[in-house]
Amino acid sequence: MTHATLDPHAAHTPAHPTVIPVAVAHGDGIGPEIMTATLRVLEAAGARIHPVPIRVGESVYREGHTSGFTPDTWGTLRGAGVLLKAPITTPQGGGYKSLNVTLRKTLGLYANVRPCRSYAPFVPTLHPQADVVIIRENEEDLYAGIEHRQTREVVQCLKLVTRQGCERIVRYAFEYARAHGRKKVTALSKNNIMKLTDGLFHDVFRDIGAQYPDLEQEHQIIDIGTARLATHPERYDVIVTLNLYGDIISDVAAEITGSVGLAGSANIGPTFAMFEAIHGSAPDIAGQNVANPGGLLQAAVMMLGHLGQHEVAECIQNAWLRTLEDGVHTPDIAGEHTAQSVGTREFADAVIARL
Ligand code: NAD
Repeated sequence: MTHATLDPHAAHTPAHPTVIPVAVAHGDGIGPEIMTATLRVLEAAGARIHPVPIRVGESVYREGHTSGFTPDTWGTLRGAGVLLKAPITTPQGGGYKSLNVTLRKTLGLYANVRPCRSYAPFVPTLHPQADVVIIRENEEDLYAGIEHRQTREVVQCLKLVTRQGCERIVRYAFEYARAHGRKKVTALSKNNIMKLTDGLFHDVFRDIGAQYPDLEQEHQIIDIGTARLATHPERYDVIVTLNLYGDIISDVAAEITGSVGLAGSANIGPTFAMFEAIHGSAPDIAGQNVANPGGLLQAAVMMLGHLGQHEVAECIQNAWLRTLEDGVHTPDIAGEHTAQSVGTREFADAVIARL
């Protein structure tokens, strides 16, 4: 298995010989457990990274920082250039900003990349052939944060779509497909109704797509596209879409391949990249040593590929796959192929034993 870099413009970066500082957020809920497990595997595999801990999330929100960050964190982040982040609990109630949205906008993380594949027959799934990568525009659309009250009874949220934003994400999707040996790129939008905003995205997809004749390409309306993804995920390869649609269908894609505990994601910008599991902080199982560290481990594998440490990424990925194949499973993926039901720590031990 190969792990091409997530920066399509640096697809052939040579392996980096030096140790690279990586900002690490241990997160909330199950975050510290899965981060500890992941860092142990990275260290045992010889990843050439130097973890630099940062404090974000619940404890920082509680101190009165409504963004979830302390002011000094930004300097540490920019100094590192890469963040490996465990999930954060979003506080309930008004006045708090989403830490994830703030990170994406402040650091210019315009592309969200989420590979979702089945691990049949070792992990139970309805769709054993599923292997799809969702590429979501990460900064614009209804998430641009332009939302206000017009009257007591009327509120408004603006959908912002720019040609530059569309071009950047569509080109990223085609370059990603090429760099990773994928065959087809599908664009999903609602251009039949939102003729200007989604229409612009569709036009850009058609124009840029013409520069990639080696790749099959199609456009589908988002509603039927989502329905088909849920029933026939094997028909999709790389999907590129706008922010809100991508947020929703990437969860659909992850869910149909098995557990939300199995998928990682990357958030890529011109000068910074952030890697995380797709799931949340799972407060219902926090502190019980039952969480699956697989999603964060997958994110770490993507991070190593991005840093040019392909051989370490491959070694971890193969050990993780062998662990699943050997039936060493956390409770969320238990099924007929489970030989040994283990906790978070023991799962990490099993991966390390197979490196
Ligand atoms: P969740 O993903 O935390 O949990 C949903 C279900 O999946 C729960 O039953 C949980 O036990 C299970 N689950 C999640 N990860 C698992 C794992 N690794 N192993 C085994 N089971 C796992 O979603 P939620 O309950 O809606 O959200 C909890 C908190 O997480 C909220 O505060 C939410 O805002 C936050 N959140 C953060 C992020 C992030 O930081 N990127 C993403 C999503 C949600």
